[in-house]
Amino acid sequence: MHSIHITAALTSLIAAVVFGLVIHRMKMQANERLVWLAALIALPLQPLAFYFVRVPLDHWLVSHVGAGSRAYAWLVTLYAPLTEEAAKLVPLLVPAILRDIRRENVARFALAIGLGFAIGEMWFIADRIARVPQFAGVPIFQFGGYMNERLMTCMFHSAFVSLSLLGLRRNLALGFAGAVALHWLGNFPISLMNWNVGGFGKANWSIIIQLFLVFYLVGAMAWLWRLAFGFGSLKRMLYGRRQCPACGSEYDPSFFAVNAGTKRYERCPHCKRWQWTTPAVNESTASGPDVRQ
Ligand SMILES: [Zn+2]
Repeated sequence: MHSIHITAALTSLIAAVVFGLVIHRMKMQANERLVWLAALIALPLQPLAFYFVRVPLDHWLVSHVGAGSRAYAWLVTLYAPLTEEAAKLVPLLVPAILRDIRRENVARFALAIGLGFAIGEMWFIADRIARVPQFAGVPIFQFGGYMNERLMTCMFHSAFVSLSLLGLRRNLALGFAGAVALHWLGNFPISLMNWNVGGFGKANWSIIIQLFLVFYLVGAMAWLWRLAFGFGSLKRMLYGRRQCPACGSEYDPSFFAVNAGTKRYERCPHCKRWQWTTPAVNESTASGPDVRQ
């Protein structure tokens, strides 16, 4: 057995356990069987989209615009965003899944579809690596980069598809366009590296890409967090519920404040006064991420 396949199995297991637990324990209302069905349907979609849409599309494009042209080089950057974001909508062809996705549970379905899709892609990539002769006999621990990258991808795929799902009830075209645009932007630095833009060389470009990916990952995580729990829960975790010394009411901490230890200078949303506040005595009413029902 090729060690990339063992790495792929390990990576799939970690992703399935970590993301699976989060999806399972999310409080938002959704038919959990349908959530898992969506993940299951998403599982083979990346390889299917590649072999049955992307490869034929590429042949067609090469014969029409020519592989050496500048237009072709740009069009190629659209392959993954367009075909993959479209493929992620396939679970919506199940009417029960389509009905069950709502604004309130988008994060749950997005994580499920992103997870299934990313695991399928893990095996697609592993399969391609296994066919490269230079990688034969490379030990597992040298595929750490693969593991990092593939685990990050679970987050990216979930964040991208969440835009399509958000658009579902109001404007699917707009949501889909957003998903494609963010996906394209996420991949674009790799094209810049391949074109060696600025003449930085491959080594420098790969450092730029690593930094960019960390930035993108934090963005994707913050976005999914906001979608799932709202930022109120994050502020509560950091600062706790606040108590107004003037009117005595409790409220969630605001982003606009001066922090000094446990004290904050902020505006009470009830009596509108700016003042120094302390954490509310009764913390039991709101702590942890699953407050919003
Ligand atoms: Zn007040």
